[in-house]
Amino acid sequence: MPHINILDKDTINKIAAGEVVERPSSVVKELSENSIDAGATAISVTISHGGTSLIRITDNGCGIAREDIEIAFLKNTTSKIMNAEDLDHVESLGFRGEALSSIAGVAKVELMTKTKNDLNGIRYCIEGGEKGIISEIGSPEGTTIVVRDLFFNTPVRRKFLKSDMTEAGYVNDVMERIALARPDISVKFTNNDKIIISTSGNGNIKEVIYSLYGREIAAQVIDVSFSLCDMAVTGMIARPVISRGNRNFENYFLNGRYIRNSIINKAIEEAYRTHLMQNKYPFTVLNLLIPVQMYDVNVHPAKLEVRFTHPEQIYEFVYQAVSKALHEQNYIPEVTIGETQKEKTTMVKITSAPEPFEQNRVQNNKLHEETLLLAESPMYQSVSNAKNEENPISEITSLTERINEPEAETNNRKDTAKKEAENNTARIKEEFKQESFLTEEAMKDHRIIGQVFSTYWLIEYDDKLYIIDQHAAHERVLYEKIMKSIKEHKPSSQRIIPPMVLTLNLHEIEVLKQSEEYLSELGYEFEPFGGREYLVSAVPAELEAIGKQNLLMEFIDEMCRDTIHGESELLYEKIASMSCKAAVKGNCRLSAEEAECLIEQLLNLENPFRCPHGRPVMIEITKQEMEKKFKRIL
Ligand code: ADP
Ligand code: MG
Repeated sequence: MPHINILDKDTINKIAAGEVVERPSSVVKELSENSIDAGATAISVTISHGGTSLIRITDNGCGIAREDIEIAFLKNTTSKIMNAEDLDHVESLGFRGEALSSIAGVAKVELMTKTKNDLNGIRYCIEGGEKGIISEIGSPEGTTIVVRDLFFNTPVRRKFLKSDMTEAGYVNDVMERIALARPDISVKFTNNDKIIISTSGNGNIKEVIYSLYGREIAAQVIDVSFSLCDMAVTGMIARPVISRGNRNFENYFLNGRYIRNSIINKAIEEAYRTHLMQNKYPFTVLNLLIPVQMYDVNVHPAKLEVRFTHPEQIYEFVYQAVSKALHEQNYIPEVTIGETQKEKTTMVKITSAPEPFEQNRVQNNKLHEETLLLAESPMYQSVSNAKNEENPISEITSLTERINEPEAETNNRKDTAKKEAENNTARIKEEFKQESFLTEEAMKDHRIIGQVFSTYWLIEYDDKLYIIDQHAAHERVLYEKIMKSIKEHKPSSQRIIPPMVLTLNLHEIEVLKQSEEYLSELGYEFEPFGGREYLVSAVPAELEAIGKQNLLMEFIDEMCRDTIHGESELLYEKIASMSCKAAVKGNCRLSAEEAECLIEQLLNLENPFRCPHGRPVMIEITKQEMEKKFKRIL
């Protein structure tokens, strides 16, 4: 029998600290929330080395009285609630009384504070939970907390931190959220002596958006102001011309608290659904004012998640607010009465069962992310084998099934799939090429029947009917072109005049810097343009004709989501597959000559059977299968 130990105070504190203090950004989040709760109208945060060596937070809030200082650093001490009943109507950001004790348990903390009533300020030090001395100092009203050497006594936790730049990026995210949630507070963030964020605190949200996201987005935002029953929302959302490749720009705050909530995401996305392409997400800054009785924030140590008592009401409310703003502004010219009707029906359906459309999106995302896997996996074989199966679309079904598999299996399979693929791909490709119409020989004899649904080309060859997806085909052609130019180190740059300006946040700048080498091998040229702006002066020649800015931004978004480090092959693949995906235009009619030309290009490809995202470029139906279906043969 193991002996059961009662843990000492120090160990208990370190365990508890782990829940609240995961990294420098959690310290900044907790401390600045304290400043907000203290009624501050100005908060200034300075960090060095990503916040690991130094975090300094200064506010002009109410300060802490001398007699409360030591108590504030004890476990579970708070001025914000008295008892469990108070938990039902918490209006402050903090209430668990954990932050100061947790932070002081894993860092060297120095506090300087002065209340309105005290003549002098107080200085107090506490290191790794060990109390220091209290002394009087001259100090302005408010509180300054300096946190040095985070995790100095828990080296294992320190190891889990990422690069200084990445950690600084997380702190930046926290500060951006505060600035957005509270335009009435002047927010300043300085990283390694460089001012990154500085807002005036004059209450103007549009000014904050401008200073954080730049001119382009600020020029495209519209007001949201809506109320329903006891709920109200204010803020701004961007017109659909602004969209991003991940949900990072869907900002919303619940009574001033930054939260993540899938119901709210769904409601926002559903309101935008008819206006945005799939896998595109809108820009929003919504301040939701919802009675505290309608939710519980005490479900997550960092209070990032909340539980709504009636999630369907929240969905409806957010959906209506965003839809109304979009419609009123009349920025979506195509909306007709019929469409509005259609949207309403969808809304009702989704309200009662929100999952299905989300699943679609998840599937699409996964499809996108599994690019590599699918392109090179044994799935490939099922294309070539499909010809033996009864149902010509069986491969598509199995693709969907695969996408629905749990992640662990997917990962396992990734390794095996890669190995198997390496052995088989080349052989199968050759075999299949030989049998299909994609040979020099066959080119002479095949017959292009025509195009259907502005997308698919029907081709008869031998005793088979081939159906080619022109977009997938075009994508594949471009993809191989780009990959080839990378492999042969022949970037083909095209200058763009005027150059474009990208406004990036710290995180995005890091991603751009990390991928700089690869991007320039592709043909991109860019340089810092002061502050958070980057000037892009050249793009890959193949992509010159298409939305260049969006493409680079999309790449950065993708990388922010997936963080692939250093694996050049993967990076190249990603860049190339994204580029060509963007290059393929939606429904368009090709002439027979153009189709012929496309087929000719397919002929010379390494893998003409799958688009870079794993979808088939072509499927085939044999004469025999048709005869079976028509019961001519058994
Ligand atoms: P909580 O915020 O959950 O109450 P904390 O550990 O974060 O717990 O803080 C403990 C207490 O210290 C707070 O309840 C508050 O009274 C006081 N406090 C902390 N930071 C500040 C600040 N910047 N200004 C004024 N009081 C503060
Ligand atoms: Mg707190």
